[in-house]
Amino acid sequence: MRQVHIGGRPLLEFRDKELLPTLQLFAGVAVDAVEGYTDTMGELDLAVGEVLLEPNRTNQYLYLIISGQLQVHLQAVDATPLVTLEPGECVGELSIIDNRVTSAYVVAAVPTRLLVIDQETLWRLINNAPGVARNLLHVLAKRLRSDDHLIVGAIEAKRMWEQHAMVDALTGLHNRRWLQNTLDRLMERARRDGEALSLLMADLDHFKGFNDRFGHLAGDRLLTATAHALQASLRPNDTAARFGGEEFVIVLPTTALEEALEIAERLRTAVGGVTVDDDDGTALPPVTVSVGVAEMHGDMDSAFLLNAADAALYRAKAQGRNRVAT
Ligand code: GH3
Ligand code: MG
Ligand code: MG
Repeated sequence: MRQVHIGGRPLLEFRDKELLPTLQLFAGVAVDAVEGYTDTMGELDLAVGEVLLEPNRTNQYLYLIISGQLQVHLQAVDATPLVTLEPGECVGELSIIDNRVTSAYVVAAVPTRLLVIDQETLWRLINNAPGVARNLLHVLAKRLRSDDHLIVGAIEAKRMWEQHAMVDALTGLHNRRWLQNTLDRLMERARRDGEALSLLMADLDHFKGFNDRFGHLAGDRLLTATAHALQASLRPNDTAARFGGEEFVIVLPTTALEEALEIAERLRTAVGGVTVDDDDGTALPPVTVSVGVAEMHGDMDSAFLLNAADAALYRAKAQGRNRVAT
């Protein structure tokens, strides 16, 4: 056998033909069926951390793991491995079958011994040993399935992160970012449909005092319970968002000022009835809430409407708190 080097590493002579059936590609294939093809096969030893394949390179070989372990990484050799390949499995088959460049890093996780089959030998095997062709189809099918799983997983993870970014972790309500992304669109739709839209801005009264007296954790529990009470008091098309620490914004589509005032009053009563327990189980006193109400007019944008509701909230506070103001 002529001396071949792969990435500077010498290809060693392949001697132990008995181990062929332990490799996926040759499973169930009689050793004498591949007699005459083994002369051009070789062995390659990789040390821990040695990189076998890199993205965007041409690849002339199929590698079958005799012993050891290979890891496949997408972005970088030190990224979390996408898959780990064990003895019997192979790598490199896609790039030599379609002659395209490699798509990932493949790195030895432990000292690894590989059986190396060049492109030409592989095609000769595919043409002349049906068992090998069949096994290769299995390998490719398995690879496709695992890629599908990875893709589905990635889509789900993306959705989850997008949702997280729009949801307030403490209360489960939409967060300020959601409001910034959505309010202008809701207002635009209301305008287009000729519908009214109102906005409530609610802020707990003297909440700093509640925290100071009963602790921040009790404060957190009260915020969560308040969020649930708001949510439970709303109609299906209304949306509550946590705007800041103890401030909530409620969007009321198809709702004019008069009805919004009634809803605000209802919410004020609901929040005023919320209590949580202290660590030792005793009920803590409720907290009141002030609510500012504003209705969308003309071509005002979300910032303008939020400001109007905030100004109304300021008036409710100035008038003595625990009330609704416009
Ligand atoms: P006001 O009636 O004027 O609104 O008085 P306030 O004390 O509610 O208003 P202020 O803005 O002075 O204080 C708001 C307090 O809300 C400050 C902080 O202690 C509390 N707070 C903000 N975010 C959180 C939170 O996530 N958890 C808890 N426990 N408290 C929070
Ligand atoms: Mg407050
Ligand atoms: Mg506040």
